[in-house]
Amino acid sequence: MESDVGVEFADRVTVRFDCEDCGKVTEVTMFAEAEIPLVWECQCGKEAVLREHDRPDPTKPVKPQRTHWDMLLERRSMEELQVLLDERLELLRAGKLRRRSA
Ligand SMILES: [Zn+2]
Repeated sequence: MESDVGVEFADRVTVRFDCEDCGKVTEVTMFAEAEIPLVWECQCGKEAVLREHDRPDPTKPVKPQRTHWDMLLERRSMEELQVLLDERLELLRAGKLRRRSA
């Protein structure tokens, strides 16, 4: 299991998967923003199926989580970023990024 440190403020949901083969119910806690899989591997090795009741409501608006990367992409296209990266890499390889004292 992963450590819970640092994720206390994230919304989490617990969903249940029923294994038809052995009857075991597997409870899985995941982030509310995460995409909930329809099947989960049961301890017996078979696929447990997500309980109908626990399926995410498709009408519920998903709160988008914007990262710095997302915000960057809103201002620059991938092509622009690639050009900028290439330029910097070229300067770096040519040793031109080192600042010279006047
Ligand atoms: Zn099972």
